[in-house]
Amino acid sequence: MSLDTSALRIIADENRHLAHNYHPLPVVIARGDGAWVTDVEGKRYLDLLSAYSALNFGHGHPAILAAAREQLERLTLTSRAYHNDRLGPFATALARLCGKDLVLPMNTGAEAVETGIKVARAWGYRVKGIAPDAATIVVADGNFHGRTTTIVGFSDDPQSRDGFGPFAPGFVHVPFGDADAIDAAIDANTAAVLIEPIQGEAGVIIPPDGYLAAVREICTRRGVLFIADEIQSGLGRVGTTFACDREGVVPDLYLLGKALGGGILPVSAVVGDAAVLGVIGAGEHGSTFGGNPLAAAVGLRVVEMLETGEFQARAAALGEHLAVLLDALVGHGVTAVRVAGLWAGVDIDSAVGTGREIAERLLARGVLVKDTHGQTIRIAPPIVVRATELDWAVEQLRVVLAG
Ligand SMILES: *Cc1c(COP(=O)(O)O)cnc(C)c1O
Repeated sequence: MSLDTSALRIIADENRHLAHNYHPLPVVIARGDGAWVTDVEGKRYLDLLSAYSALNFGHGHPAILAAAREQLERLTLTSRAYHNDRLGPFATALARLCGKDLVLPMNTGAEAVETGIKVARAWGYRVKGIAPDAATIVVADGNFHGRTTTIVGFSDDPQSRDGFGPFAPGFVHVPFGDADAIDAAIDANTAAVLIEPIQGEAGVIIPPDGYLAAVREICTRRGVLFIADEIQSGLGRVGTTFACDREGVVPDLYLLGKALGGGILPVSAVVGDAAVLGVIGAGEHGSTFGGNPLAAAVGLRVVEMLETGEFQARAAALGEHLAVLLDALVGHGVTAVRVAGLWAGVDIDSAVGTGREIAERLLARGVLVKDTHGQTIRIAPPIVVRATELDWAVEQLRVVLAG
């Protein structure tokens, strides 16, 4: 292997001109196929992160690639100054998947969250009758909704927030998982409650049973919108289409992203009924790339794949398998495990290392995971992964935990 293509040389070259806003694992990926990636030196790794669930269908899923290729040759961008022939079918399919009337397409997850905030405020003033500029939104401690200044302003993670103010006002914090605290926090100026049904970046934090149903009941009773950020939890990951489905709950607005782009390009959306999302009029919100025909073609294929229920069922079955494997590690270098579908937070005993150290040791054994908040590793394989591959990956984890 020549020096020019060695991983260390590539990383050093990259660091020279790339801002240091990430601390990646020392591996340089060159190819991906299903649940596997290959580095520049030809070594293969099982990808247990899936780009934070943006790769729910795996690397290079043939059906998604086919939709993208076909569209790439035909039309990729029009802006919303014109209509394009792909956006309507995408919106129709996504609205049907969500059981809602309307779709507002954007690109990144953070843009979907920002859009949700704007829609909630507009609804608060125009429908609920909140006094101008007085609307508030209830958010949860430990939240992660993206990286814009408004969003980090209502994060309580110092690394995300500190040094980036001043921040937009209008957000009220409550503990995650405590429905009574939401009820107590709501007043006449509250437009919405914005939560992740399962907190991803916080470490796959699953709220107590009945929480989502209680939030739904409270929002309905108090005349407040329930906004579910399903950007990481949604689209098959937890064994159902949405994490809200685990409690049979339908929010007023779904915020979607990540896997909606099929692992190919950023595609996000806000989905809701006309009584809510319909408050936004022409010229009040937009995006140059949002709803572009390439994104719509890919998003439509993703929705079609979810409509069969095949990926949800597979995530549920594999998730039960993963839970059994991971539960056996508790007390053996692992202090706690939380599993929802094919999504797990694994708390590492500090006696055996930090989450980052475990991730580095797994890398050396051909398994890619990402640490979060120091002692936790997150496991979110592509849903196309095989049960035997999970067996092998968890065996590698057992070995590195044993030292
Ligand atoms: C990743 C994520 C976002 C932000 O998505 P980007 O595409 O990175 O802007 C928002 N909410 C949740 C729950 C996420 O996991």
